[in-house]
Amino acid sequence: MSLSQGRQYLAIPGPSVMPDRVLQAMHQPCPNIYEGGLIEMTHSLIPDLKYVAGTAAHAVIYIANGHGAWEAAVSNVLAVGDRVLVLATGRFCMGWGEMASSLGITVETIDFGGRDTIDMDRVRDHLRGDTAGRIKAVMAVHVDTSTSVRNDISALRGAIDASGHNALLMVDCIASLGCDEFRMDDWGVDIMVSACQKGLMTPPGIAFVFFSDKAAAVRNAMERVSAYWDWKPRVEPDLYYKYFCGTAPTQHLLGLREALDMIREEELPQIWARHEALASAVWAACFAWGQGGPLTMNIADPALRSRAVTALAIGAPGGTRLRRWTEHQAGLTLGIGLNMATLEDPNADGFFRIGHMGHVNAQMIMGTLGSIQAGLIALDIPHGPGGLDAAARVLAAA
Ligand SMILES: *Cc1c(COP(=O)(O)O)cnc(C)c1O
Repeated sequence: MSLSQGRQYLAIPGPSVMPDRVLQAMHQPCPNIYEGGLIEMTHSLIPDLKYVAGTAAHAVIYIANGHGAWEAAVSNVLAVGDRVLVLATGRFCMGWGEMASSLGITVETIDFGGRDTIDMDRVRDHLRGDTAGRIKAVMAVHVDTSTSVRNDISALRGAIDASGHNALLMVDCIASLGCDEFRMDDWGVDIMVSACQKGLMTPPGIAFVFFSDKAAAVRNAMERVSAYWDWKPRVEPDLYYKYFCGTAPTQHLLGLREALDMIREEELPQIWARHEALASAVWAACFAWGQGGPLTMNIADPALRSRAVTALAIGAPGGTRLRRWTEHQAGLTLGIGLNMATLEDPNADGFFRIGHMGHVNAQMIMGTLGSIQAGLIALDIPHGPGGLDAAARVLAAA
């Protein structure tokens, strides 16, 4: 019997759960785009976006998804023939590198595999080897959503500095912003890209690029930059339409304003702590289940795990069966495995991910874990006892 009627939980790693407050804020007639409240409201977004990013530098908004932010960042500081170093820890940094490559940039990649973090010594040595200083930027992902690894961006800055190299540090925080602690200025990040549909709890469609004065100087030295992606006219524009190089994404901005209000009400340290506690509960349950069956977390070391998403292996076809069961029987949509095996490989059905990012609380996590355990029982997938107890104890101690 299906027990799915009721409020659904889309527990995929983005788009994340949209708060009712955000949806209600969007549900109004289109405001005037030439004068009035919308203009003031848009100005007010910028300081709050910078607060979330931990930067006093520059922030611009694009009508785009995360891939658009990738292209925007690349387009402002890299030209055909330039060279970048991509530090791959999963699908997403690879994808950013592929986008740079499609724009004519030469990409050097160090691949750290799908279950590990960046080896800082290798980065330092690689940059030291670039004695001619040809590498213009180092590209990394804070949280790679495919593997659920969380890279230490502050340590990466340290490795770049230790090498004495002048490359820009470009970081993708699309999955981590508003979930995992991130401090752009303190950690010496030159360019950070993000999007609205994960920790920022807004329907997909707008994306952000934050950049330092050093990155701004690199942009200013570029021979030319695509008119649409150029960040320069978008910073403190004299005319409103220049914020977006055209019509503003009105309803998205209304939703984002509300989401940022919610973030300011809760404050980042509490948001990070909430994500940490909820993620720890997920890991405690998964660890217990794994003691008596095939379930394993992709990232073995808890210190390297994202607080926003957990990638798991359970053996084919268990991942796909479990996802179908929780969706159809319990109203819980889990994420597919990404880049763990090629789609035609039958092993691809052996992976899944739990999204626990953004507008998520303790009862949603306990409901998620309880539904997963019901699925494991219903599908006869062996698992160790005590998963829900272990999660409850983590939440009780938080
Ligand atoms: C979701 C995600 C992207 C891609 O974002 P889109 O909005 O789908 O283009 C890129 N990088 C990371 C780390 C992500 O989590």
